Amino acid sequence: MGSLDEIGERDGWRCWVCDLVVDPHLSVNDGLGPSLDRCEVLVRATSGRKKPSNGDERLAHRSCNTKKGAVKPVIAWPEHLILFDPAPIIQSAERLAAKGGREMVARCASKADATEAGHWLADRLNRLAPGIAFTTHIDQGGGQFLLTLLAPRP
Ligand SMILES: [Zn+2]
Repeated sequence: MGSLDEIGERDGWRCWVCDLVVDPHLSVNDGLGPSLDRCEVLVRATSGRKKPSNGDERLAHRSCNTKKGAVKPVIAWPEHLILFDPAPIIQSAERLAAKGGREMVARCASKADATEAGHWLADRLNRLAPGIAFTTHIDQGGGQFLLTLLAPRP
């Protein structure tokens, strides 16, 4: 079990669920205060790849912490990007982490949005699950830009 301060520093004081800043000075009893969460979904998906370790713990707002409920965490796509049929991020990441392969995760009308969404998604997932090496790819088709998420076979 790492300490809250160590894991907070490592994660840059950003919540792994909502990606917003966590104030290290707030009380741990405050909803917006810091807490440690285990990214259970990705830990399960990657359990064939490595042993669970301290590195599986993530900084989360107390109110975002997934230990509270059985519900899968919802990682929200950035609101300013226009995406069609955006996939639930954690569910796609979980499937790809387990088996490798590729899944289309969103369609975009503009190449700029597809590119930004691809960079954001790869960065976010590689911070959540550094052992997996997710990448993204953009294909043009039917006047749209298709964003695909890829992970190597375990
Ligand atoms: Zn949060």
